Amino acid sequence: MAAQDALGALNQYFGYDSFRPGQQGIVESLLAGRDVLGVMPTGAGKSVCYQVPAALMSGVTLVISPLISLMRDQVDALNDLGLAAAFVNTTQTPDEQSMVLAQAAAGQVKLLYVAPERLETGRFRDFAARTPISLIAVDEAHCVSQWGQDFRSSYLGIGDFIASLPVRPPVGAFTATATERVRRDIVSILGLRDPAVTVTGFDRPNLYFDVVKLETKYKAAWVASYVADHPDESGIVYCATRKETEALAATLSQMGHPAVAYHGGMAPDLRERAQRDFITDQVPVVVATNAFGMGIDKSNVRFVIHHNMPESIEAYYQEAGRAGRDGEPSRCTLLWNESDIVTRRRLLDSDYENERLTPQEQEIVRQSKRRLLDGMVGYCRTTDCLHRYMTRYFGQEIGTDSPGEAGGPHRCGACSNCESTFETIDVTRVAQAISRCVHDVNQRVGSGKIVKILRGSKAQDLAWLNPEQMPTFGMLKDVNEARIRDVLSQMATDGYLFIAEGRLPIVMFGKRAAETAAPDFHYEIKRVERKSAAAGGTG
Ligand code: ADP
Repeated sequence: MAAQDALGALNQYFGYDSFRPGQQGIVESLLAGRDVLGVMPTGAGKSVCYQVPAALMSGVTLVISPLISLMRDQVDALNDLGLAAAFVNTTQTPDEQSMVLAQAAAGQVKLLYVAPERLETGRFRDFAARTPISLIAVDEAHCVSQWGQDFRSSYLGIGDFIASLPVRPPVGAFTATATERVRRDIVSILGLRDPAVTVTGFDRPNLYFDVVKLETKYKAAWVASYVADHPDESGIVYCATRKETEALAATLSQMGHPAVAYHGGMAPDLRERAQRDFITDQVPVVVATNAFGMGIDKSNVRFVIHHNMPESIEAYYQEAGRAGRDGEPSRCTLLWNESDIVTRRRLLDSDYENERLTPQEQEIVRQSKRRLLDGMVGYCRTTDCLHRYMTRYFGQEIGTDSPGEAGGPHRCGACSNCESTFETIDVTRVAQAISRCVHDVNQRVGSGKIVKILRGSKAQDLAWLNPEQMPTFGMLKDVNEARIRDVLSQMATDGYLFIAEGRLPIVMFGKRAAETAAPDFHYEIKRVERKSAAAGGTG
């Protein structure tokens, strides 16, 4: 089918003049009978990618979606556009379900929406065996992977269902989040055949990305000064806990900067009022937990500040991405420090409980969450362009003449890393001393005591260890405490050390511990030397 037809259908049914990036290639591949994996951020226009082919193909297009609650709206919208659509799901009586399937079998439905569980029922299998299915679209395809955030076991049956069809139609899988590993899972578990992979649109050039390393006690003051410098701007400040949202909103208000708190623990009427006041610009700033934002469409949010580090790049991208929907310059600032990482790790290791999973499955989920967290920590530590880090994370390459690692320095002009220079500090001696000290104390104490011993402290709480007998006692007398802590924390992130979480966290050796004793061991940390863009200005 010609490209003209696709554009014609886009125009006829949806009223759009042109395809957005990535859409046309996907539509044409599906029309040519090829499988497709489409990775595009939320709002980029994935639906059109299978709805246009559905309009042009002769049989029925099956849309597999986990979101039963949205099916009615989606189907109504398509019918309004003149595309015959229907859904079968558990909100209907068995009679209603039979009627829809009969209509679809009779060729009266172009798009049929179902949840993955439906594919396993005998009645649906019968229907699929005798009805020509021209295309299968799998929405939220990352749900097949245990390595993503939203694993759904019902997605594992989709591949079998497709394989059971008398004639295999082309399959389009769509998702907004697919790292390399998840992408491989989608392809193998759904059984995609040589799919055309399209990744688009993750870069948001109007957003200025900013990473600021700051001790916890200075964070509130930083936020207050930012808000004071941007009095007429609307912004969201994300905090990790409900208590923090209330405390920070109160602090800002006391300082004369109106702000409301928003979190899941508030009474529904208060929550709705906070949301309404923010959306209608009655109150410029909302201080919220991650409960805020779902389904909120406010276009003129000028800044999103994260008071703490989120659990993944996916979460950060989604929350920070609420800034600048209108395309105007906006700023996304992430405040972080080493203790954010420790807190996140601890939550992940100790807090994770889900009795429906076996211990083995829990470990898989935990591992995948650890990897997601590593991606987030990498964003905080990288000296590379933050736009590039982010889009690469999602599998898209921007701003390089030659793609890949060899792409060379990329200066976007819209992130704090591109506007800073970094000083590399050789901390090999510090790292080796820390490692030896962990050995001296037999992996029995926390980071606070390690630092004290290395600094030669005479503190009473160390006496039982007899630290003065240790070779590392006072070895880093000349290095300040914050530096030692930074290095220790980075060593834990890099796998030289391992922080065993318990009532009191203990510093132990990590998988790479032995490397620190090698003669060619070299260790560095980076420090921002100059920041031309201070808290002021949005780009
Ligand atoms: P996604 O599923 O990727 O989150 P949607 O399919 O819901 O995104 O599309 C987001 C919005 O973009 C919708 O309002 C849709 O109508 C609109 N849209 C999609 N494609 C185009 C296009 N080619 N031109 C203009 N608007 C489009």
